[in-house]
Amino acid sequence: MLVVAEKEIGGLMTPDAAFEAIEAVFAAMDAGKAYNFPVVREAIGHEDALYGFKGGFDASALTLGLKAGGYWPNNQKHNLINHQSTIFLFDADTGRVAAAVGGNLLTALRTAAASAVSIKYLAPKGAKVLGMIGAGHQSAFQMRAAARVHAFEKVIGWNPHPEMLTRLAETAAELGLPFEAVDLDRLGAEADVIVSITSSFSPLLMNEHVRGETHIAAMGTDTKGKQELDPALVARAKIYTDEVAQAVSIGECQHAVVQGLVEATAITRLGAAVNGTDPGRDGAEITLFDGTGVGLQDLAVAAKAVQLAQAKGIAQTVEI
Ligand code: NAD
Repeated sequence: MLVVAEKEIGGLMTPDAAFEAIEAVFAAMDAGKAYNFPVVREAIGHEDALYGFKGGFDASALTLGLKAGGYWPNNQKHNLINHQSTIFLFDADTGRVAAAVGGNLLTALRTAAASAVSIKYLAPKGAKVLGMIGAGHQSAFQMRAAARVHAFEKVIGWNPHPEMLTRLAETAAELGLPFEAVDLDRLGAEADVIVSITSSFSPLLMNEHVRGETHIAAMGTDTKGKQELDPALVARAKIYTDEVAQAVSIGECQHAVVQGLVEATAITRLGAAVNGTDPGRDGAEITLFDGTGVGLQDLAVAAKAVQLAQAKGIAQTVEI
């Protein structure tokens, strides 16, 4: 099997390559050529960790495998980031393990690429202001990916822990964009595109905050109980997701569904907008992408990383 070490990913995988891989796999999912397996995610009762597996099979690219890993909230004491994962690819013809790929940076890149795909297809025409809710590890990747697909003129941001906002200010500066810290009322009123990426378990952005044509990429909610948006705001939006089964169980939509405000049948796969079988905004005031994070995203970027590592001659071969 091939091994692509975590330390090599930064030199191999570009945000553009991640974007192309994620756009293609969302299209394949919507065309019925790729499917995700049910997610396993367990609180293991040690170190407050959440551990699990996300897997799937893309018959169009012959990508089969899983990502194993999760969230260790106390990792700072080990000088490690809280998200730890490894992606395993298997030969779809024989079932033999084909590759092990470091999944930490790839997770950030594929998550940012997913919201960027949603912004490409759903941002209001002429959108100028990007609003960021969240200032943790993922937020910088999200801002960079959003700025690659749309020419924003300004970034505004809010975070439950204001001391973390320096990350957003520094990332905006790196992109050559002005940054302003604002309250949620101004963020909802002024931003044309909003990306939320926090670990919140209660709604932050309320229905009355959001005014005017807006696209919201809700990326933080990937577990039962998490929540970033007011269910009334979710219900007001034209809703897209990566995987409907995940949106209603572990995504932002879980709360609106439980409250009877949204039905699973009203949620569209983002791949339909990519494939052109769905018209996109089509006059909607608010569009929402409920990005829950699917195994096929991990497999798509891992397969690309293996391809790039082989081309550079830096994939290690191990007998198993
Ligand atoms: P991080 O620990 O670096 O940052 C956490 C962020 O959430 C910060 O903005 C922090 O201020 C905020 N926060 C922390 N506790 C909070 C609370 N109790 N209430 C409200 N906000 C709180 O985390 P990160 O790596 O940036 O990840 C952010 C979120 O994104 C996590 O919930 C993570 O599980 C999720 N995530 C989703 C996907 C996906 O595919 N959808 C992929 C990766 C990460």
